[in-house]
Amino acid sequence: MFFFLFTAGNFTIANAQTRPEVRLVLQITIDGLRADLINRYENGFGKGGFRFLMEKGTYYTNAHYQHANTETIVGHTTLATGTFPSQHGMIGNVWFDHEAGELAYNIEDPNHPIIPSRENVSKGEQVDPAQKKSRTQGRSPAVIVQLDRTLADLFAFIEKSVGLKYTLVVLSADHGMADMPEYMTELGYKAGRLDPDEIVAIANKAGQKLGVDEIVRFFYRPYLYLNDEKIATAKLDRMKVEHAIADALTDFDGIALAVASSRLSAHQTNPLLEQVRNNHHVSRSGDIYIIQEPYWFLFDKGPVAAMHGSPWRYDTHVPIFFAGPTIDAQMVHRRVHPVDVAPTIAAFLGMTPPPSAQGTPLEEVLE
Ligand SMILES: [Zn+2]
Repeated sequence: MFFFLFTAGNFTIANAQTRPEVRLVLQITIDGLRADLINRYENGFGKGGFRFLMEKGTYYTNAHYQHANTETIVGHTTLATGTFPSQHGMIGNVWFDHEAGELAYNIEDPNHPIIPSRENVSKGEQVDPAQKKSRTQGRSPAVIVQLDRTLADLFAFIEKSVGLKYTLVVLSADHGMADMPEYMTELGYKAGRLDPDEIVAIANKAGQKLGVDEIVRFFYRPYLYLNDEKIATAKLDRMKVEHAIADALTDFDGIALAVASSRLSAHQTNPLLEQVRNNHHVSRSGDIYIIQEPYWFLFDKGPVAAMHGSPWRYDTHVPIFFAGPTIDAQMVHRRVHPVDVAPTIAAFLGMTPPPSAQGTPLEEVLE
């Protein structure tokens, strides 16, 4: 993406004399690069890749997503817009469309052939080939070192074609990554895999106690959608139904908390609730948000080795790097957030940030 700074004309006079010349903004987002992996594999890095960012750029070591459903599209959109899924609407890679009565995929659009089509795969399957690839390879040391070499090649190409001194480089990740529950069990942690059928069964059982059969309309992690018609026909108080089902789910092994959406408006300041609230989009989110216990997988059955999507630290923790003209080489350990990235890029270029951006420009980059 190119920004031609001095053609925009909306920079402030005070900054106009000192603003560096930027010819290219290069924003790189790595899939599932948990922040601590950089330190872990640092010894294997060569010159010019991550080392260029670490030695020449401002390196935020303590950046965390603030939404609960740490999935791919949610992270990408948050980085690009500087706001939360509650605003940008990308609440998950896949969600249930209340009106159409079927699953919706985040980049699906039958009118635009460039976007992958779901014709040959089952509903809910993620059709972005890049996502499939990353899931099977995981985040082994070899992959991280290979990524380091790819970055080095890219930066060398930029240096030759544009010049790194004219380029603002921004690197982060769309989410972190969890280790396999079986591995965590070996280390002595309590962990396991939650079965979606079991979750639906528990919720339906709680519904039966209230006199409604098969009260669950749909479940797609992390949201459970209830059957509005059945609740109305039975003349039940919707809020009471949601709370009864959420309580039954919370009691289940492996579920840390099930949050009824109607409870999100309450003035509660639990950090987990805050993350669920940031994820809550009025027309897309379901009725109950299910949060797994740390290290548990909330996923379909099958031999899935790597997983993300929880509100826990290993999934929210990502690196943020800014490198470019006038930016100091420094490591910053204060807590910052990916919603700060878009407002920082805008401020650096003297441009107006996206209208709903809620992040704060990172001062270390701008000083
Ligand atoms: Zn991803």
